[in-house]
Amino acid sequence: MTRAARADAAVHAPGTVVEVRDTPVPYQLASRAHHPADTLITIRPGVELGGRRVLLMGGPCAVESEAQLMAAAEATARAGGRVLRGGAYKPRTSPYSFQGLGAEGLRLLDLARRRYGLAIVTEAMDEEGLERVAEVADLIQIGARNMQNYSLLRAAGRLHKPVLLKRGPSATLEEWLLAGEYVLAGGNGQVALCERGIRTFAHETRNTLDLSCVPLLKALTHLPVVVDPSHATGSWPLVAPMARAAVAAGADGVLVEIHPDPEQALSDGPQSLSLPQFAELAASLPLIARAVGRHV
Ligand code: PEP
Ligand code: MN
Repeated sequence: MTRAARADAAVHAPGTVVEVRDTPVPYQLASRAHHPADTLITIRPGVELGGRRVLLMGGPCAVESEAQLMAAAEATARAGGRVLRGGAYKPRTSPYSFQGLGAEGLRLLDLARRRYGLAIVTEAMDEEGLERVAEVADLIQIGARNMQNYSLLRAAGRLHKPVLLKRGPSATLEEWLLAGEYVLAGGNGQVALCERGIRTFAHETRNTLDLSCVPLLKALTHLPVVVDPSHATGSWPLVAPMARAAVAAGADGVLVEIHPDPEQALSDGPQSLSLPQFAELAASLPLIARAVGRHV
């Protein structure tokens, strides 16, 4: 059996490599050694993640109404985005917060897909809802809170649909890659990883965007890497700068929360870009992508 391995250098004195040996990494299928070429995920025909083209994904945190979702979908398509996000089932910190429209939210996402030709990314919160979400989603999101929900990961591994696996708020890269390994080991090779900020001592932002994980993951794994600057910062003025930084760092995609009226949003308004702000961000990305050998 070929074991995924990485070169491990033991340095005796500064600058002196005395021993180089292969040590196995625990995430065998996810490792770059197992699969040296980048994995290219086809979300739907013509919409790929992991190639030279950086994938722009936009949409509201939660689907709230037909008017809200269609406005966001139109803005996403017009900005060159090809994937519409929107939660129908929302994992909220408080049980008293808006929990999403559920099945009606899925129906509206399906309508937006037909109307605007966008692919859909939306979250499956539990095993029970996975099949229902998979009927509408082109890309199934597994949220940060569920990164180590192993029964959900196993169930996602049995699907023939791409999975966007968000990083747990306190997960190391190894724990995150091992979570992805559950999906891969189940037979589903279409896994993308989404950095959405981790919990640190810093309280000025909702989370801390670990941008160095992008080039690190590129070295460790063949799986595409997405950055969500919205949950990573929690604050709309920081979203566009961090989205640009993500593209510069080599992210394969960015996932951005937008809302036609952020102040009235039922969830995550403070981190949502208005539609004109999203258009402005999208217009700035091609130049940055070009600087790192990509396009949008
Ligand atoms: C979301 O994308 O709306 C979401 C809840 O994200 P996370 O799981 O990263 O908190
Ligand atoms: Mn959100």
